[in-house]
Amino acid sequence: MSRKDPQTKQQRSFFIKELFAFALLFILLGFTVYSIFQNSVFQNINQGLVNQRTQILNNESQPTIKINPNKGTANISPSIGGPFRSTTIVFNSKGIIINKPMLGNHFYSLIKNIQLDKTQTDKVYDMTIGSQNFTSHFRTLLVKVPKSNPNPLYAGNYAMIVENVDADLLALKSFERAILITIIFFWILAISIAYFLSRSSMKPILTSWKKQRDFSANAAHELRTPLTVIQNQLEFMLTKPNDKILDQAEKISTSLNSVNQLQTLTAHLLTLSRSDADTVQVNMQSQLLEPFFKEVITPYQDVAASQSKTLTVAVDAPGAGVFDSGLMRQLIVILVDNGLKYSPKDGTIGVSVNRIKDTLTIKVSDNGPGIPNEDKKRVFDRFYRTDKSRNSKTGGNGLGLAIASTIVKQHHGKIAVHDNQPTGSIFEVSIPLKNHSTNLTTK
Ligand code: ADP
Repeated sequence: MSRKDPQTKQQRSFFIKELFAFALLFILLGFTVYSIFQNSVFQNINQGLVNQRTQILNNESQPTIKINPNKGTANISPSIGGPFRSTTIVFNSKGIIINKPMLGNHFYSLIKNIQLDKTQTDKVYDMTIGSQNFTSHFRTLLVKVPKSNPNPLYAGNYAMIVENVDADLLALKSFERAILITIIFFWILAISIAYFLSRSSMKPILTSWKKQRDFSANAAHELRTPLTVIQNQLEFMLTKPNDKILDQAEKISTSLNSVNQLQTLTAHLLTLSRSDADTVQVNMQSQLLEPFFKEVITPYQDVAASQSKTLTVAVDAPGAGVFDSGLMRQLIVILVDNGLKYSPKDGTIGVSVNRIKDTLTIKVSDNGPGIPNEDKKRVFDRFYRTDKSRNSKTGGNGLGLAIASTIVKQHHGKIAVHDNQPTGSIFEVSIPLKNHSTNLTTK
């Protein structure tokens, strides 16, 4: 198959679309997870700042450690949700830090240049402090403490609650990296899986497309041969306008043969395309087996005799069975017709119908050339012929057994071909007579 097949192109375009779809999906997923995580981290920090403000405004106590003398254990009770990481810088109204001793020298040296921005009062905002070598990130909340506050440190001043978020930012950074690696890993995994899935799901489509293409090409080829014959005969007759019909009887008969061939071929093509479209009306009905099969097969004894051949019939199938009589007749005709076609002059064709419990077995044997092992399965393929030159003489088009196989499938049965002894072939069909009685398709 050429690499430029529309199916291959289609497969490639599917794959590229999947590539983008998965990328988009994973980016969205990563972005959502990251946003949720980031929000929850900063929400906790903000909540801590708000709690701290409540403590300052209500002059609530700082975290205490209570020693339990009986048990010798310590209970740490932080002030309502107050974070341990936060520090409060107190500014007077002139913007001078007034709680330097509480801040410690190291922290004070870091924040000593912070300007009090009164416009930021009651707002949570981020602040980066530090030099070129070292920076620290804080989330802050500035509170204007009323003069009435009982704590003289805060009363009438500004309390800036600062919480160090370096650890949180670091955690977010690692999380971001982890999410990115996970996304890339799963994206590659997903597209690999999608690639293999699309390949395997395209396989049956490609096979059936190839079958369809071969079918159309074969059908066109088969139609062309009889059409060319008819055209040649008619063109020749046109050159003899004064001839009588009798003078051109041979040409007319050849043309009629070709017309018959065309008729059979188009009927076969129609049958197969209907069965492909699942629009064949399978009319399952209960039939008495012996009268039905005898009535279908017996007339072929005369046909065989007219060809100096012998057709033997053995029907041992008591009782009734459920099947489509029209399709069953077509099946028998195809097999018997092939037996007659491929058996030699003075050949023998045997047809037997047996019922064993609820299984009907039909065998059609002949003493023709037989079918080589490598062709035994393929003879049921459309347009397959074991020997093209021999078949051109028999007028076959390689569709009979394909139709037979379809009919057998419609009856939930099996068809196979074996070797006859000493020569020839035996076509064996087995059909369950009861189990599919519920499948009365009416399409
Ligand atoms: P056709 O119309 O060519 O007979 P079929 O589908 O009936 O098409 O058969 C397919 C091919 O199987 C035939 O072309 C022939 O090569 C082979 N075949 C079918 N039946 C027989 C048989 N009874 N003996 C030998 N070859 C057979």
